[in-house]
Amino acid sequence: MRKMIVAGNWKMNTTLPEGQKLAEELTSLLSNYTGEKDIIIAPPFTHLHAIGNVIAKSPIHLSAQNCASEESGAYTGEVAPSMIASTGAQYVILGHSERREYFEESDEILLRKTQLTLKNKLKPIFCIGEQLTQRESEQHEATVKKQLEETVFKLSKSDFQQIILAYEPVWAIGTGKVATPEQAQEMHAFIRKLIRDKFDESTAENMSILYGGSCKPANAAELFGQQDVDGGLIGGASLKADDFYAIINA
Ligand code: PEP
Repeated sequence: MRKMIVAGNWKMNTTLPEGQKLAEELTSLLSNYTGEKDIIIAPPFTHLHAIGNVIAKSPIHLSAQNCASEESGAYTGEVAPSMIASTGAQYVILGHSERREYFEESDEILLRKTQLTLKNKLKPIFCIGEQLTQRESEQHEATVKKQLEETVFKLSKSDFQQIILAYEPVWAIGTGKVATPEQAQEMHAFIRKLIRDKFDESTAENMSILYGGSCKPANAAELFGQQDVDGGLIGGASLKADDFYAIINA
């Protein structure tokens, strides 16, 4: 059975005290959590260690939002997967459209980051998704297929089975424009079929594929209710403990 997962991507938001407060609020809301979803938060690098302490006795897991593509050395300003692992984090978000667009991260770099992440026993939450123009010109399936083929489909089957996928249509990220549950289901089923064709049935069936893009308490239940949607990667709504908690319970 594949896992349902709700992951919060805080992006470049919160000072350390603000982040600690948010994590404390969430920890307290989840003190009696008996649900079956895995819960992950991805604060900025600077907060990982301290927030790891706040959530230590809670059901919340810790993720980084990015990592370096090299193991160590003279790469000023970069943060290696081994450093992330040493904070107690277990996940790394990779391939987010903001990293692809603003930091020009190529498929080649993303594959390298994914391999290093896995080497350090961290789980990549690997994002794929099409731009608005690509959807409007009916290129959404071809775009996502190419993104997979150029990156995580180059992994061995056993490595691929360690990752989590997030389908995030770029036109829905931070725009308030959410994919309809039908659009999300259609793409998730398509992605699962690609996994089946590339690897096998059980790899496809066990892969958690999260939806991301303007997911809110008001639309989460319908999105998560789709057969091939296994939870969400949440941006804006993960910055309010009440909203994130409501999405976890959707
Ligand atoms: C994201 O950035 O991964 C995301 C889904 O953002 P938002 O929920 O704000 O659209």
